[in-house]
Amino acid sequence: MPFGLLNRVSVRLSLWYTGLFAISAASLLFLVYYLVAQELARKEEEVIRSRAKEYASLFQTSGYAEFKRRVLAENDPSDEKAFFVSVVSPFDVVDSVVVPQDFGTFRIESRVKRVWQQAEITRVPKDAQKDIAILPVLLANGGTMFVGRSMSNRDALWQPLRQTVIPAGVAVLLMSLVAGAFVAHRAMLPVRQIVETARSIIQTGKLDARVPARKSDDELDEMVLLFNTMLDKNESLIRAMRESLDNVAHDLRTPLTRLRATAEVALQNTSVSSEAQEALADCVEESERVMSILSTLMDITEAEAGMMQLRRERIDLCQLLREVIELYEYVAEERKVGVRGDFLEPCEVSVDPNRVRQVFANLLDNAIKYTPEGGRVTITTRNEPGQVVVLFRDTGIGIPAEEQDKIWARLYRGDKSRSQRGLGLGLSLVKAVVEAHDGKATVTSKPGEGAEFAVVLPKVTGEVPTTAAPEERTQAREAE
Ligand code: ADP
Repeated sequence: MPFGLLNRVSVRLSLWYTGLFAISAASLLFLVYYLVAQELARKEEEVIRSRAKEYASLFQTSGYAEFKRRVLAENDPSDEKAFFVSVVSPFDVVDSVVVPQDFGTFRIESRVKRVWQQAEITRVPKDAQKDIAILPVLLANGGTMFVGRSMSNRDALWQPLRQTVIPAGVAVLLMSLVAGAFVAHRAMLPVRQIVETARSIIQTGKLDARVPARKSDDELDEMVLLFNTMLDKNESLIRAMRESLDNVAHDLRTPLTRLRATAEVALQNTSVSSEAQEALADCVEESERVMSILSTLMDITEAEAGMMQLRRERIDLCQLLREVIELYEYVAEERKVGVRGDFLEPCEVSVDPNRVRQVFANLLDNAIKYTPEGGRVTITTRNEPGQVVVLFRDTGIGIPAEEQDKIWARLYRGDKSRSQRGLGLGLSLVKAVVEAHDGKATVTSKPGEGAEFAVVLPKVTGEVPTTAAPEERTQAREAE
C-alpha cells in the first residue's frame, strides 16, 4: 500500500475500524472457545466420575466375578468411548479389567498407584488430539479402582476453529476493510471537494470556483454550504476592492492629464521665474509617473479579469529578446552588470509582441536592478513540445523562500529592495500578461546566489485571432 494512501482519512478510519473489529471479534472468539472447552471437559469428567461411582458400588455389592462380567459386557475395547477399568488389590496386585484399544500400552503400575491415589481426575496427554483422564476410587477392601476414558484435548477443539473460523474471519475482515474504505471514501467526498475547490482557487486565482452542493441535509452538507457562502463573501469583497481601485485609477486619469497639460502650457510661458519653471517641470514629471502607475494598474486588472485584448502575431521570441537587451544596454553598462543572451535556435510563438516585450523588459530591468556591480544576467530560450521557455538568470541578491509567493502580488516590494526605485507592480504585470497568454511565470532562487525567472509561453498553432491594436484600446479608454 503506498504511503500516500495511508495519509487519507478514509483509509485510516477504515483501518482503525477493521483493527478494532478484529480485536473484539478475536477476544469474543477466545472467550467462547475457553468457555466451551471448559464446559466440555467438565461434562466428560462428570461422566467418568459417575461411572467410577457405579463400578465401585457394583464391586462391593456383586462380588469380583460379577463385577468383571458386567464391566467387560459394557465396555468393548475396540470402542473409542469404552471405559478403562483397572483394579489394584490391597496387596498391590494389578488387574487391568478393560483396556480400550485407544489407550495403547497405558497401564496402572502398582508402584505408582499411590501417586495416582492422591489426585482427583488426572489427565495424561496421549497424542496431538487426545488426553487420557483417570479417576482413582478407594474401595472398601483397601484396594483402589481406576476408571478412565480418553477425551479430546484443547488442540482437538482448536482444529475446527483453525480450519474454518479463522480463514472465514480473515475473509470477513478483508471484506469489511474494503467496504469500510469505500463507505469512508464516500463519506469524505465533500471534504475532498472542499480541498479541491480551495486548491483550484489558490492555483488559478479564479474566485468563482464552488463546491458542488449536496442535498443530504447533514453536517457535511452544512459545511459545504457555509464554505460556499464564505467564498461568495470573499469574492464580492475582493471584487469590490479591485473595482474601487480601478475606479480610483480610472477617475484619476482625467484630472491628471489635465494637470500635466496645464503645467506644460505654463512651462511655455517665458515670463515665469526659473524656480517656478523647475516646479512646473517636476509637476509634469510626477504626473507622468502617476499616470504610468495608473495605466499599469489598469493593465493588470484587465489581464487578470481576462479582458486584456491581445494582438497576437507569429514572432521569434529571440528577436524580441535581442531588442529588449539592446534597450537595456546602456543601463546595464552604467550599473556594471554584464547581460548576455544565449539563443541557439529561433523560438516561434503567437503572442502580442508589445505585451511580451513589456514582460521581458520588466524581468530584465529587475535582474539588472537587483544584481550588484560585476554581476551577470543570462537570458536563454528553450523550445519544448508545444511551448517555449525563457529563462532570466542573474547573480544578484536573490529572493528569500518566504517572499517567493508574495512578489507577484500588486504593490509588493521585497524587504531588501526598498533602496531601489520601483513600485512593486512589475511582476504583477508579468504574471497577469503571461497568464493572459495561457502561459506561466515562476521563480526559483536562493538568497545571495541570484534568481531565475522562467516564462513559459504556449506556441499557439492554427489561426491566430487578431484583436484591437493597443493604440485603439488606449483611445477607447481615453474616450471613457
Ligand atoms: P519592484 O521591482 O518595483 O519592487 P516588482 O513587482 O518588479 O517590483 O518585484 C517585486 C519584488 O520582487 C521586488 O521588490 C524584489 O524584492 C523582488 N524581485 C524581483 N525581481 C528580482 C530579482 N531578479 N532578484 C531579486 N529580487 C527580485
